[in-house]
Amino acid sequence: MLLCCLAALTEAKYLKYKDPKQPLGARIKDLMKKMTLAEKIGQMVQIERSVATPDVMKTYFIGSVLSGGGSVPAPKASAEAWVNMVNELQKGSLSTRLGIPMIYGIDAVHGHNNVYNATIFPHNVGLGVTRDPQLIKRIGDATALEVRATGIPYVFAPCIAVCRDPRWGRCYESYSEDPKIVQQMTEIIPGLQGEIPVKSRKGVPFVAGKQKVAACAKHFVGDGGTTKGIDENNTVIGLNGLLSIHMPAYYNSISKGVATVMISYSSWNGKRMHENRDLVTDFLKNKLKFKGFVISDWQGIDRITSPPHANYSYSVEAGVGAGIDMIMVPYNFTEFIDDLTDQVKRKIIPMSRIDDAVKRILRVKFVMGLFENPVADFSLVNQLGSKEHRELAREAVRKTLVLLKNGKSAYKPLLPLPKKTAKILVAGSHADNLGYQCGGWTITWQGLGGNDLTSGTTILNAVKNTVDPSTQVVYSENPDAEFIKSNKFSFAIVVVGDPTYAEMYGDSNNLTIPEPGPSTINNVCAAVECVVVVISGRPVIIQPYLAKIDALVAAWLPGTEGQGIADLLFGDYGFTGKLARTWLKTLDQLPMNVGDPHYDPLFPFGFGLTTKSTKN
Ligand code: BGC
Repeated sequence: MLLCCLAALTEAKYLKYKDPKQPLGARIKDLMKKMTLAEKIGQMVQIERSVATPDVMKTYFIGSVLSGGGSVPAPKASAEAWVNMVNELQKGSLSTRLGIPMIYGIDAVHGHNNVYNATIFPHNVGLGVTRDPQLIKRIGDATALEVRATGIPYVFAPCIAVCRDPRWGRCYESYSEDPKIVQQMTEIIPGLQGEIPVKSRKGVPFVAGKQKVAACAKHFVGDGGTTKGIDENNTVIGLNGLLSIHMPAYYNSISKGVATVMISYSSWNGKRMHENRDLVTDFLKNKLKFKGFVISDWQGIDRITSPPHANYSYSVEAGVGAGIDMIMVPYNFTEFIDDLTDQVKRKIIPMSRIDDAVKRILRVKFVMGLFENPVADFSLVNQLGSKEHRELAREAVRKTLVLLKNGKSAYKPLLPLPKKTAKILVAGSHADNLGYQCGGWTITWQGLGGNDLTSGTTILNAVKNTVDPSTQVVYSENPDAEFIKSNKFSFAIVVVGDPTYAEMYGDSNNLTIPEPGPSTINNVCAAVECVVVVISGRPVIIQPYLAKIDALVAAWLPGTEGQGIADLLFGDYGFTGKLARTWLKTLDQLPMNVGDPHYDPLFPFGFGLTTKSTKN
């Protein structure tokens, strides 16, 4: 009698889906069969941190929470504070009947960029220049560690857009205009998630445990191809063009086991991607055999209609029906839950579609060990902004810079600059501005100029660190002719560029460097030999000033480690970077990409001068 009851008790406690020794399929099946409709639909919802409480997590069985761009718990919150915040919400999820852990996601698009003190790597536009997949993989590794240091297991990266028009405000999130470079750069995925075992089944997501994060290839598909580079607009291209330009990097991402794919706000030939069943279900899921989950973009299904949220039932039916599994921030998540529940009950949306979505979400959670390790510890907190990661970022900066001009004649190069000289000038709006160096998606969504944002090295400080102690470094943001004349500078470093920006606000219709950049170039370069360093998320129109400039460096958005720039300017290392984007002469040449029939750029794709290191 006693024996029988004991056996019954152990049996009652044993839950197959909680047993890591069980095969993945068996765990999913076991859990699925225990779930109610409400528990399933809850898994499909991702809410924003500001509305998430342990109670909300529990009541609605919420599957995921995110910090959207710049949604930080407190501006200078420590890694420990982040861990506590994430764990607090997780407690809510774990206290549900089935104890399914939620997955917390964040935009770590150039390092763990929402968090104070994290290492900020160059934005993708610079990384494409390196054409160095192993470097990108190491950046993925470091990013995963820093993100996990704050208790977060999921990142909305990489952006594998192929930006075909630099007017697009997200051009800097794209590695290149060339699909092949973007394909190479998907090597960040094994960095973030871990290296997929050779024998893995095609399309099955892979995330290797507690020091890795689930990645997200975004934005599916054609986000970088919109007309005139207008954000979230229409990509007009035939199927062959879509498949040969915008799709290839998805093949690589899927073969590397990417856990999730995010849908693009843009349309393809007039149809919103968020309602494109042919591409999301038939192509991505069925043909490419992608087995991870598909996530919408922020309120992406609301935006299926214009104006957004005009016909919500239609949006829910079209979005979920197209094959989207997790809905990022439905405008009103309880309305979404009610609407979807109603449509399932009325058989407008088949139960099989809900099951497909939930299976995929659970698959990712199981694969990455979230059921075994749902709560983060503090063992990785020292990884945030570590010395090793900052060294890696500095190395990356060195490999992302492109030397476009060096001296008024090839026989008289200006770079590398001497470390020992009497007096040098450092000028320009971007010379002493960490926020500008980092660009958008840094602490705040749109980014923010200034030096308070986070910790790092500005270019001015990097120059000071590098020159001989006897060299006098004079800094003036926008010096006038009089000032320059009255000093006898050996040479000047002028750092100019773009203000910070991100999606929605970053589109440009002129690609010019805003004032006072041009007047600083004019004033300084007229009076003293000058190297101009451009900090920008895309090629800018530089031709009007080119004759005055002695040396020109494209530094993109290098991030916190400005020291990498001084490493090259003063010859500790040589320039090696080659353009991964076409640098145009005039705006009316757009759109113009490598391989186009009338290709006549100022600096072609692949161009980049080299210098030798003076160290050896
Ligand atoms: C962007 C995505 C991002 C998401 C979450 C959206 O507006 O398009 O790239 O991952 O917000 O912040």
